[in-house]
Amino acid sequence: MSKHTTHNRLAWIDHELDQLERGGLSRRLRTRLGPQRPELRLGDWQGISFGSNDYLGLAGDARLAEAVAQAVRTEGWGSGASPLLAGHAEAHRRLEAQLAQFEQVEAALVFGSGFAANAGTIAALVGPGDVVFTDRKNHASLLDGCRLSRADVRAWPHGDVERLDALLARSGRYRRRLVVTDGLFSMDGDLAPLVELADAAERHGAMLMVDEAHATGVFGLGGRGAAEALGVELRVDARVGTLSKALGSIGGFVAGSRRLIEWLVHRARPYVFSTAMPAAAAAAALAALDVVHDEPERRTELLRRAEQLRRRLADQGWNVGPSASQIIPLVVGRPERAMTMAEKLYARGFYVPAIRPPTVPEGESCLRVSLSWAHLPEQIDALVETLADLRDQTPPGA
Ligand SMILES: *Cc1c(COP(=O)(O)O)cnc(C)c1O
Repeated sequence: MSKHTTHNRLAWIDHELDQLERGGLSRRLRTRLGPQRPELRLGDWQGISFGSNDYLGLAGDARLAEAVAQAVRTEGWGSGASPLLAGHAEAHRRLEAQLAQFEQVEAALVFGSGFAANAGTIAALVGPGDVVFTDRKNHASLLDGCRLSRADVRAWPHGDVERLDALLARSGRYRRRLVVTDGLFSMDGDLAPLVELADAAERHGAMLMVDEAHATGVFGLGGRGAAEALGVELRVDARVGTLSKALGSIGGFVAGSRRLIEWLVHRARPYVFSTAMPAAAAAAALAALDVVHDEPERRTELLRRAEQLRRRLADQGWNVGPSASQIIPLVVGRPERAMTMAEKLYARGFYVPAIRPPTVPEGESCLRVSLSWAHLPEQIDALVETLADLRDQTPPGA
């Protein structure tokens, strides 16, 4: 078969990519040089990053690196098999025990990623003949889990618990019901109304699952997330977290009852059919949990600075949406406008990603400012000043 025929069969991709380019929706992969931290190097660009999920500044922390180095020296790197086939090392067992203690639950289970934990857990909890309810703004991994499960999927408009309640009221014919939500929404930076969601789930006998990806290590006195902050931990059946954001490592986990975890070991396909993360990665997560426990000021200080930053940006006239967290969107509307703003910031030495459809709904393109404990006050000040400047240059709607 000639090269030419192959090329022709993929010609539709050229067309699709052109369309994305024209709609201001093309994406570019940039390569970071050096560690993940506010002082960032991307290719030959150097500046201040407000684009990572490294909320506690742990991704480049020397203690994590040392834990990894030690583990690699004794355990080697690869884990060589899925957990059920000798891939489960002592470091994984210790991490799961530590996570259970941290989350104050009976048991926890570690997955290769938060994405895998979400998708695998939903598909293990519901299947054909069941129904799963999902907030319209839930993360892609939750939505993919819903689809994978082959349960019927019902989406409720973001934050509209009344609508969810009405949907639940009409779900009597299903075998099992599951309500899933982000704890802290990854684009709007708002907390889910977890008390009301727990009420609704209980009223209709539905299971409740909360994805704490952006809230683990940040929200709650103990750093356990949105469910802790809102006092509903015991009313959530499955809490999912990631080790890859505030915890600065890689992997995902589910926390819950012993029976739930036992079921996932049998039925969560990304757990059963995927290689265990390296033991050294588990060692890094263990070191991160120690920091979360020993240095609570990182999260309290982060949230205090985030509140200040939201106020300063709102005072400048930016639309920070419903944000109540370290994730601060500056909603600008059209994708082209978000791109232009991001490029201007980049030219002035700030990396603030433009978030566009399909990540956010049409008309809600934004610049997404992610604040980290590691940002210096003067770096935050510099961003605020630059944004004020850009704001004066580009009136709203321009
Ligand atoms: C990032 C993210 C995940 C996936 O976590 P990874 O560990 O990066 O795979 C899941 N849910 C939400 C809300 C996220 O933002």
